[in-house]
Amino acid sequence: MRRRLPADVMDPFGRIVDYLRISITDRCNERCLYCMPEGYKGWESKPDHLSAEEIVRVVRVAAGLGFRKFRLTGGEPLVRRDVVDITRAMAAIPGVECIGLSTNGTRLGPLAAALHDAGLRTANVSLDALDPVIYRRVTGGDLAQVLAGIRSAVAAGFERVKLNCVLMRGVNESQLWPLAQFAAEHGLPLRLIELMPLTSTEVLTEQNFLSVADAMALLAQHDELIPQPDRRLGWGPAKYYQLRHTGGLVGFIGAMTTQHFCETCNKMRLTADGKIRPCLGDHGEFDLRETLRHAPTDAALREVLEAALLAKPKEHQFNGQYRPCRPMTAIGG
Ligand code: SAM
Ligand code: SF4
Repeated sequence: MRRRLPADVMDPFGRIVDYLRISITDRCNERCLYCMPEGYKGWESKPDHLSAEEIVRVVRVAAGLGFRKFRLTGGEPLVRRDVVDITRAMAAIPGVECIGLSTNGTRLGPLAAALHDAGLRTANVSLDALDPVIYRRVTGGDLAQVLAGIRSAVAAGFERVKLNCVLMRGVNESQLWPLAQFAAEHGLPLRLIELMPLTSTEVLTEQNFLSVADAMALLAQHDELIPQPDRRLGWGPAKYYQLRHTGGLVGFIGAMTTQHFCETCNKMRLTADGKIRPCLGDHGEFDLRETLRHAPTDAALREVLEAALLAKPKEHQFNGQYRPCRPMTAIGG
């Protein structure tokens, strides 16, 4: 007989996994070097995406199991027209303590207030450069729209707005200090994220990988970094430092180089096509959409979630010869 999980969403390694990141679309209006392979054509068809009702149903069952924190992501979640409705329905579910958003910010300007009103509490905005030319080179997008989106998010009154930057040597290391200054001026934490092998293999090379240690050394040329070992902002894995003179907070996410990185992992992912992914850096997936559409009882959905939790690997596989079977845009960051 299959081992039953305790009700408190503990995985086999003793980690409490109560955070579900939900990709509501694999589509995006940008095409970041590190996320979407050039010429990518693997889009899921619209009917293969979970509907708003299906997403909300999964959240209800997950909350019943003990999940408490939820994040809407993608692709770009704000290209989906019903994102405000999905947020509002999720916020009404008992047990849902906090809903966050990961966005490239391009559509946040007109949507921030409505999302806040619907119950969204935190927003992470990707910002890989402050130079518009470098920003366009990395993402294909328009920096001015993103800056307007960040302003709207701050004005909307979210509990927290964080900025995310993926580190790429030879691409955006010149931007790290300007980004740190910008973040400090606006009172927003900046998180610097190591590049993970989640697009075509030629994007992650020895040449363009920049470790968090190197990023820290670059910032230390401008200001002193004071460790904040007890600082946790939200549910992420960042290690925070305060800039002594500039005053800002910078978080480092060293998924590739930090020992024991996975020991505090607290999340699973739901892809836009309805697969539960226990780990970003492991190919294992569990098909919730099949259950949603063909055996749709709450008990059956709960079993899939529990099976995924039991299968959560101890650590990611990125440091071997890992080859993604889906790019990041199709998993959900
Ligand atoms: N479109 C939204 C955005 O850009 O924030 C949400 C989805 S995106 C996949 C979520 C996060 O994953 C972003 O912060 C992005 O920078 C990060 N990301 C994407 N590909 C990555 C990679 N290969 N390595 C590290 N982080 C990555
Ligand atoms: Fe789109 Fe976000 Fe991926 Fe960039 S990181 S291509 S904005 S999903």
